[in-house]
Amino acid sequence: MTSRSPVQRASTAGRRGWLAAAVAAIIVALVVVTGCDRSTPADGEPLRFMALGDFGTGGPAQRQVARQMAATYRDWGADFVLLLGDNFYSRGVKSAEDPLWQSHFESVYDPAGLPIAFHAVAGNHDHKGDAKAQIEYSRRSARWHMPDHHYVFRRQAQDRSVDFFGIDVMVLDAPFGAQPTGLAWLNSALAKSDADHKIVFGHFPIWASLGRYGDHADLVERLAPVLQANNVVLYIAGHEHHLEIQKPRKGLVQAISGAGSQNRDVAPGDAARFVSGRLGFLWFEIGSDGIEARAVSRDGDVLYSTQLAGR
Ligand SMILES: [Zn+2]
Repeated sequence: MTSRSPVQRASTAGRRGWLAAAVAAIIVALVVVTGCDRSTPADGEPLRFMALGDFGTGGPAQRQVARQMAATYRDWGADFVLLLGDNFYSRGVKSAEDPLWQSHFESVYDPAGLPIAFHAVAGNHDHKGDAKAQIEYSRRSARWHMPDHHYVFRRQAQDRSVDFFGIDVMVLDAPFGAQPTGLAWLNSALAKSDADHKIVFGHFPIWASLGRYGDHADLVERLAPVLQANNVVLYIAGHEHHLEIQKPRKGLVQAISGAGSQNRDVAPGDAARFVSGRLGFLWFEIGSDGIEARAVSRDGDVLYSTQLAGR
């Protein structure tokens, strides 16, 4: 072991910090200049993405999960991340300049390890602050993508097209665009979509019999029929601080990924194909063979792997 003075160590650490910041800045610049944010797979490749919820504490558990996400990105690939809300505890952000952007997002999911797009929706804690500031931040960031409360984007997965619909469940009843409500917008956008797969993501689960909050009666009554009538294959939610993949209901599978920074023990039950109270996230791969889902723990353990839909 070489012995160095504290001054030398500090100077080396400073140089390393400067170098890391420079590398991150170059990556972000390349993303901005080339538009090559790796959010679309190369021709013929399956589409891969991670889904993460309830992460915005800025604490060590969030950082541990983030480090595993970077490892999963490196080992299995990912074209983007879906962020499922409660992006900033406990009272959202105050503005697009809020220091929490740096401490709870940029420095945690650093662009050197995760140089991909993050498609986000707001959760209940985000609405305790200025949820519109999270929309505004999309215009300043190469990676943060929340163009509105509700939105849709399309990706290609080998010979399959996939439409992703992000919804802000806190304002589903507010007027949106030309529609009387956000829910009416979702119904209309789903009906118009000719994608091979339709995937919806929002903060509140519809069914959460195993979680702390239980089933969401209003969403069971009003959101579930819209998803099922429009052949949505997958609804991904957070809010409950565990990982879960449920059995299909009329062709619709609900997945819960709310263990991005806090976790709760959860007992197995009839509704679930898989459930875990460990910290972690879900990873998906979509291609000609269908949709594969894996649950990944903070430590990189593959807790569960399943095929959700095939030809
Ligand atoms: Zn929540």
